[in-house]
Amino acid sequence: MNPRAEDPGRCGDADCGQALHRLQAYLDGELPDTDLDDIRQHLSDCYPCTDRLSFEEQVREIVRRGCSEEAPPALLTRIESALDLGGRGPGFTAPGFSA
Ligand SMILES: [Zn+2]
Repeated sequence: MNPRAEDPGRCGDADCGQALHRLQAYLDGELPDTDLDDIRQHLSDCYPCTDRLSFEEQVREIVRRGCSEEAPPALLTRIESALDLGGRGPGFTAPGFSA
């Protein structure tokens, strides 16, 4: 067993954090050219971030259509789990609910 075997899906390093942070601006078309090169370079060899990008694109597409069409069940599941992950941080306490 070699725990240091090469893993192509190495999402979680600083590069990935940066890339995911820029993803929103990238999708909005607000990313400067210099950053654009960076993120494209990263996406070209990081599968988890590429997957994340296509997920975000699908979500935006649905929002753009005004949710008039039903989203594919598989995507809905992913959105739900993404929201679940995002809502677990500190400060996510409903006001007025002190113990
Ligand atoms: Zn990445």
